[in-house]
Amino acid sequence: MVENNELRKVGLKVTLPRVKILQMLDSAGQRHMSAEDVYKALMEAGEDVGLATVYRVLTQFEAAGLVERHNFDGGHAVFELSDGAHHDHMINVDTGEVVEFIDADIEKLQREIAAQHGFDLVDHKMVLYVSRRK
Ligand SMILES: [Zn+2]
Repeated sequence: MVENNELRKVGLKVTLPRVKILQMLDSAGQRHMSAEDVYKALMEAGEDVGLATVYRVLTQFEAAGLVERHNFDGGHAVFELSDGAHHDHMINVDTGEVVEFIDADIEKLQREIAAQHGFDLVDHKMVLYVSRRK
């Protein structure tokens, strides 16, 4: 199973809750899920994994680099599987919808601004809070 290998690769023991949660993150239509979202989706799928376990496993996944945690304003922390590729986020403040984007010009500009201050850019997070144009 792919999930078992992924867990072993990052040094986590293969346990049923870990496999179930990883499968859920992998197969859910939604890429950014709160612990509650994962918990509810598991319940709907008939899986008996408690909310506390979901929290604990997601935190373990984060520490292992398997998922990324985002603390967007005005909502719960959401988790997404790390795919190794950088992207930024837009949050629709009316619906809570999370939109991913990447813009080469913005990426370049940020490196240039850091350089102007004598730095190399090592990481950044950009979140745009948006509302649908009327
Ligand atoms: Zn994302």
